[in-house]
Amino acid sequence: MSPVPDTPAEDNPTGLVAKILPSSAVDGPGNRAVVFLQGCDFNCKYCHNPETRSSCIHCGLCVPACPAGALSVYEGKVFWDSERCTDCGTCLQVCPHSSSPKAQTLTVTEVLQRLSRYFPFIRGLTISGGECGLQAAFLTSLVRRARKIHQLGSLIDTNGSTDYSRLSELVEDAEGFMLDVKAWDGAEHRALTGAPNDMVLKNLEYLGRLGMLYEVRTVVVPGLFNAEQTVCEVSRALVSCGSRARYKIIAFRPQGVRPQYRDLPQPDRKELVKLAMLARSMGVQEVVMV
Ligand code: SF4
Ligand code: SF4
Repeated sequence: MSPVPDTPAEDNPTGLVAKILPSSAVDGPGNRAVVFLQGCDFNCKYCHNPETRSSCIHCGLCVPACPAGALSVYEGKVFWDSERCTDCGTCLQVCPHSSSPKAQTLTVTEVLQRLSRYFPFIRGLTISGGECGLQAAFLTSLVRRARKIHQLGSLIDTNGSTDYSRLSELVEDAEGFMLDVKAWDGAEHRALTGAPNDMVLKNLEYLGRLGMLYEVRTVVVPGLFNAEQTVCEVSRALVSCGSRARYKIIAFRPQGVRPQYRDLPQPDRKELVKLAMLARSMGVQEVVMV
């Protein structure tokens, strides 16, 4: 196991962590460890991880539903026994609060310790969520220590609601950002996510100009927002700020989505190809459809 050295308390903040994946081939380039943080300030209709949106309020509803007896209540708090958990996901389906009893408060050192045995086999970290930008002190410390002590770069997978121009230390230490632009039009963005997109668009320009955008993503759901306008304007913004980020155009899929949104329409291949061609025609060098 690679050692994780002791660190001063001020550089070891805690974060609310939804899940840690020691290895993933789909969260950025190469084999990466992924740290999902709990809590999100958007409420996207097509959210595929709704259980990462909120903190547990310890209502106890999920406890009797657990078939493995991995959940218990002690002094009004719900506790999760990771040894007993079979990862069946029942608690996540039962929870009416978009939360999980499995989220844990961990220090940066604890996260790095859990991952250290995998360091020789991974190319870097991806920090995701929920929305990782909401836990800025934890995120900044994790990214800094991964780079400076363990020589591992970190990609920040974000909805763009955090003002990254105020987190210069994080931006300097990060390997890059993966930014969702869910809709270009402000009113459509608000209808889709419950939140404004001014900061998202500011980050697109700010991180793009710095050369820190690894990837921009738009999930396409026919009829929910103007995908053509979004792809056109995002492409224009990327080209005009000189960003070489790839643009990933993603077809909506209902897996993992809350029941009331599972019937949202899925785009056909022709529609995605048309959007990809539009991005290319605007000058984006790398466009990916998934
Ligand atoms: S995923 Fe949830 S319900 Fe399933 S065994 Fe683990 S704690 Fe219990
Ligand atoms: S995870 Fe959800 S259902 Fe379970 S105790 Fe927390 S808020 Fe209640």
